[in-house]
Amino acid sequence: MQKITFYIYHYFFLLLLIVIGLPVYAEDSVSDTFNITRQSKILPVTQTCAGDPWQHIVWVHVHDNEETARQAALLTLNQIKQGCLVDFRHGGSREISIQTAEVSYQFDPNRIFTETGRNNALKCRRGNCAGAREELGQEVRSFLDQYLIHVKLIVALHNNHPRGLSIRNYLPGGSMAQAISQVAVSPDKDPHDFFYVTSRQAFDFLSSRDFNVVLQNNQDVHDDGSLSVWAARQQIDYINAEGGTGNLISQMAMLAAVQAYMQQYYY
Ligand SMILES: [Zn+2]
Repeated sequence: MQKITFYIYHYFFLLLLIVIGLPVYAEDSVSDTFNITRQSKILPVTQTCAGDPWQHIVWVHVHDNEETARQAALLTLNQIKQGCLVDFRHGGSREISIQTAEVSYQFDPNRIFTETGRNNALKCRRGNCAGAREELGQEVRSFLDQYLIHVKLIVALHNNHPRGLSIRNYLPGGSMAQAISQVAVSPDKDPHDFFYVTSRQAFDFLSSRDFNVVLQNNQDVHDDGSLSVWAARQQIDYINAEGGTGNLISQMAMLAAVQAYMQQYYY
C-alpha cells in the first residue's frame, strides 16, 4: 500500500511538473509566467524571472549539468511568482569551454568569482592565455556588478552525485571539514541534501527546521573563487541549497524553507 501511495504521489508530481513546468520548456514562445533574457559572450548568462524581481534577492545556478537544481528553482519561482534565477547555459556541461581562432580554455564557473580563484581555475590550452584571463576577469566583474553586488541574499543551487559530496564530508575528519564553523546533521534527511551557508542567522534558521546545514568559517575559508567566498567578503548572506541529483522533491522542500527564511528576514 505504501508503495502504491508512493507511485500515485510520484505520478501526481510528474503531472504537476508537466503542467506547471510547461512554460519552463516553452521558453522560446511567449510565456506569461517567465520573462527570460539572455546574453552570451564568455559567461552564457540567462536570467529567468517570474513576476517582479526581488530587490535584494537573486537565485543563482552556475553548473549547467545540475538539472535537478535548475528545475527545483524554476518550479519554486513559478509557485512564488516573484524573483529571478540567473543561470549559465552552455550545452549542459559543468565546465565552460571557450574556443576561438585565438585561444582555447575552460574553467569551472564556480571558481571564478575572485581573482585568485579565477587564475587557478582557468585552464588554458592554446593561444593568448594572458588575454583570456584578462577578458574573463572583466566579464566576471561586470556580471557581479550587474546581478549580484547590490543584493542582500544569494540563493545558490547545486546538485551532487550519489558517490559525491554529502553533509558527511563536512564533519570532523571529512574531506571538506576545513574552514567550517559548524555542522548540523539531521537523522531524517538524505545526507546529499544539505545547505551550505555563510551566516549564523541562516544556519540557525535552517538547522532548527531539521535540515542538514554547514556554516562556512568566513575568516578561514580557502579562496577557491567560489561564490560563497565572494559573498562572504561582500557580507552578502549566501545560502546554497544543494541536493542529490534527482532529489527534486526534497530540493523543493529545501527551497520552501528558504522562502520562509526570506519572508522572515528580507520582506
Ligand atoms: Zn554545482
